[in-house]
Amino acid sequence: MKFCPECGRPLVQHKVERHLRQVCLPDGEGCGFIDYGRFTLGVGGLVIDADPQTGERRVLLIQRNQEPNKGGLDPSGRVRRL
Ligand SMILES: [Zn+2]
Repeated sequence: MKFCPECGRPLVQHKVERHLRQVCLPDGEGCGFIDYGRFTLGVGGLVIDADPQTGERRVLLIQRNQEPNKGGLDPSGRVRRL
């Protein structure tokens, strides 16, 4: 990535937390954007509660909107930066 996706200024290499990153330096005009590269963030969790009227235990699930298993139910998800 050569230009800032937020403000369009050229990115420069800069040390951020002991790693060289492409940064839009906040030098008065830059916005401070830091390119952490491409990554996929996985999350997981299981939410269980009880129906207040019946006392029946319930599990919270998400419905997948992408393959694999599009339309299936899953207790976890992920965020992918493009
Ligand atoms: Zn910027």
